[in-house]
Amino acid sequence: MTYRPRDLFDAVIEYHWSDLELSEFTVFNTCKDPLSILIAIVLSQNTNDLNSTRAYRSIAERIGCPMKPEDILKLGVDELARAIRVSGMQNVKARTIVNLAMSISVDELSNLDPQELRDRLLSIPGIGYKTADVFLLMYRKFPVFPIDTHIRRVLSRCGIVRVRDEYEVIRKTVEEYLPRDPEYLMKAHLSLIEHGRTICRARKPKCDQCPISDKCAKII
Ligand code: SF4
Repeated sequence: MTYRPRDLFDAVIEYHWSDLELSEFTVFNTCKDPLSILIAIVLSQNTNDLNSTRAYRSIAERIGCPMKPEDILKLGVDELARAIRVSGMQNVKARTIVNLAMSISVDELSNLDPQELRDRLLSIPGIGYKTADVFLLMYRKFPVFPIDTHIRRVLSRCGIVRVRDEYEVIRKTVEEYLPRDPEYLMKAHLSLIEHGRTICRARKPKCDQCPISDKCAKII
């Protein structure tokens, strides 16, 4: 590697950040209370932002927002699954959202020590590393770097991590290279996702148009 890994992240931010429409990400399209944001992140799994935003709005039409755990529990898994069908995996997601509502309070989401909160979230069935870390970064402004499939693909092609590395290995590797600044980490996270969606696509990556081509090992 003849460059600092940090340079690669800086270049991706510089290329994508100013054109990003944050309102197109479901997580920025919700009420600002912690449960609404966490539910939006759960809905975003394995679907696009258009469909997860529709699913989020469908819940909001039924229970309003800010979203309260007791209203989620009143809806129940079956009604919730019907409401979020458009996001796919609706039964799994509905069960996860009900688990959340049963397991953690709004006060805890807002005020628990971030590391303790991460452990608590990860103990809830259906909540994985990425969901917990996106919430900690976006809502709690905790300096953690969430890894999604686009980020895993881009960074493995660049030779920074290996595609089959475990989530925690990739996260810790990346965090060693980057400043513990939540604003920077949020920009890097979203810009890399955009890079994976538009240029370093799963099929037919556009290496000839890529702003980090000179830094990339092109392990495809
Ligand atoms: S040079 Fe190609 S493989 Fe490397 S990041 Fe860019 S698009 Fe992806």
